Amino acid sequence: MKVVPRNRVIYTYSFRHKPVEHVKLNETFAIMTEDAFGGQIKVEKDTVEGLDWSKVDGATGPVFVETAKPGDTLVVEILGIKTESKGVIVTVPKNGILGEKPFGPVTKTMELKRGFVQFEKNVRLRARPMIGTIGVTPKEAEIPTGSLGRHGGNMDVKDVTAGVKLYLPVFVEGALFAAGDLHAVQADGELCVSAVEVAGEVTLKFKLIRREQPEWPVLETEESYSILACGDTLDEAAKYAAEAAAKALMREHSWSFEKAYMFSSLAADLRINQVVDPKKGVRAVVSKGFITLKSLLTA
Ligand code: CA
Repeated sequence: MKVVPRNRVIYTYSFRHKPVEHVKLNETFAIMTEDAFGGQIKVEKDTVEGLDWSKVDGATGPVFVETAKPGDTLVVEILGIKTESKGVIVTVPKNGILGEKPFGPVTKTMELKRGFVQFEKNVRLRARPMIGTIGVTPKEAEIPTGSLGRHGGNMDVKDVTAGVKLYLPVFVEGALFAAGDLHAVQADGELCVSAVEVAGEVTLKFKLIRREQPEWPVLETEESYSILACGDTLDEAAKYAAEAAAKALMREHSWSFEKAYMFSSLAADLRINQVVDPKKGVRAVVSKGFITLKSLLTA
């Protein structure tokens, strides 16, 4: 199995980066990822004060997907996520949803074992490893790996876990995929700007859907499809997610806008992905009982 080492890190999604690996469709491969701080924070006395910010929020890649063409959809099957046994969370003064409060830079390290994250001696959380940054390369603009958009990127969606599929629009030849920023566990919102940041390894497989694309990245779980929208504000992100859901329901059922709008009110859950990245993220979650993948893609 091909393994992309974690030192093959990029800080922008850009067609100027040379691919570090070529993979075929249906080929299982792995990428190793550094944590979001580039491994700079190891112990609790390391705070963000000493951080080299140019080494933060990197992604491993880019990986060239053979035969992927602009206009296609890259289907990313997340087969497995393994994390190291120690993670770290930080506060960053002036950051996060409560950034206007007076607080200092604090680092907390945590052991990850037997499927749990030990937050305090008597407080533990079930680990749910997820991928914070996952995306493809946009057509023209170079986008920092710390940002997010229609290409994916630093979306910080807690449901991007092992066993799901992610549908990303392909903009350039070979898609030029990159991922990083694993979290051992994260809640919707990622309120303090950091989750349990951890290095690890992701096992993946790609498929392609030819000449059709989703408007926003789409996540498929066993039960539902989620449209992963983002905007400059939470309101804007919510509007984009709702609009994409209504359009998909219109296509699925040949409904009028009014009917799809009403049904969205009953069956499209809006959930917050995160409120702390350069753009805010909201997902619209619709049960597979009401929608099929075909309605989420257009030619
Ligand atoms: Ca992140």
